[in-house]
Amino acid sequence: MNDRLNDRRGAPGTSRLERIICLRCPRGCEITTSLDGYGAILEIEGNVCRLGRQYVEQEVHNPTRILPTSVRVRNGRYPLVPVWTPRPIPKQYLRDLARSTRSVELEAPINVGQIVISNWQGLGIDVVASGEVERV
Ligand code: SF4
Repeated sequence: MNDRLNDRRGAPGTSRLERIICLRCPRGCEITTSLDGYGAILEIEGNVCRLGRQYVEQEVHNPTRILPTSVRVRNGRYPLVPVWTPRPIPKQYLRDLARSTRSVELEAPINVGQIVISNWQGLGIDVVASGEVERV
């Protein structure tokens, strides 16, 4: 069984197993799910509560993450300000969004909650400052 865990290469018609750590609470249950060859969930075990099932369903079908990063600041007390996506975004966009933030340079002062990138790529994804930087 274990040699098939985390193997995402299953061909259509071939079931496979995945091991997923639930991050919904600090308990961090290790959940094993079996998927059919088309990615449909057949079975879930190892979750202590129903949130674990929801977490696995999302991880399998539409994994999302919050992106925490930083952007450059001109004329500020600090050269960088922390930013984040207040809402989780599809995992597939993380790398490109992080790349986009590298080209951003803000003029101090920066306030908490200030929009840094609005509606990225027309996808409704905002990047927001999570810290302050005074002007110097
Ligand atoms: S399955 Fe329930 S108890 Fe286990 S980590 Fe997820 S939320 Fe916590």
